[in-house]
Amino acid sequence: MIRTEGLGKSFGAARVLDGIDHAQQRGEVVVLIGPSGCGKSTFLRCLNQLETHDTGRITIGDVTLEAGARPDREKQRRLRLFSGMVFQQFHLFPHRTALENVMEGPRFVLGQTAAEAGATARALLAKVGLADRADHRPSQLSGGQQQRVAIARALAMKPQVMLFDEPTSALDPELRDEVLRVLRRLADEGMTMLVATHEMRFAEEIADHVLFMEGGRIAESGPPGRIFRDPSQERTREFLRKILPKA
Ligand code: ADP
Ligand code: MG
Repeated sequence: MIRTEGLGKSFGAARVLDGIDHAQQRGEVVVLIGPSGCGKSTFLRCLNQLETHDTGRITIGDVTLEAGARPDREKQRRLRLFSGMVFQQFHLFPHRTALENVMEGPRFVLGQTAAEAGATARALLAKVGLADRADHRPSQLSGGQQQRVAIARALAMKPQVMLFDEPTSALDPELRDEVLRVLRRLADEGMTMLVATHEMRFAEEIADHVLFMEGGRIAESGPPGRIFRDPSQERTREFLRKILPKA
């Protein structure tokens, strides 16, 4: 469902992604870990074409986009539609209600009628536990509620895969669980998900596969049980020592 081959990206002289090969089946949940600055966000942003990659190719579903000086715009557009993205900062429209935020994409990108988009948006807000907050603006919602609106908004575009970039990092600990519950439910429903996160317990629980990134490369990958308990790379071990709660 997601495949990258030799995916690379530079910002000026800095090689931020340096040949990422990744393959992920439909319904698989992959968790992306690694130190700050290792390229997790850039990887997700390339998949979603918020950044254009400069080497290699990206496949999501049946669309493959080759790197090139003039990327194929139609394929870029389709990769964006295929991948729902959820950010650390929720990026909701501040002057619109939760319902309007979720309706916006389906109405103006997918061309749905207000009635159609509204019905889907209400169902999705209910799914993330916010049926009674449809008419609230972001400023009237907690961070956890705003993030759940952002997830509903991404789902409203009927993506084939969901990309999460540290979705709970901006939240107080007591608000994280309500967002993680939504992610867990999506995983249970069979959504294909790629999640950058520092929530190791959560990662261990829902991940089929873990990628450890360092310096723009995948330094180690494997099932969570092995990566967390018996990593083969010293770098992975060092990272986990810093981040895992002491046993
Ligand atoms: P992570 O999400 O793992 O913390 P990022 O993908 O955000 O890492 O960043 C990887 C590297 O790329 C960092 O060194 C960062 O400073 C750099 N970088 C990210 N975005 C840009 C940009 N738009 N312009 C220049 N450098 C960037
Ligand atoms: Mg990041």
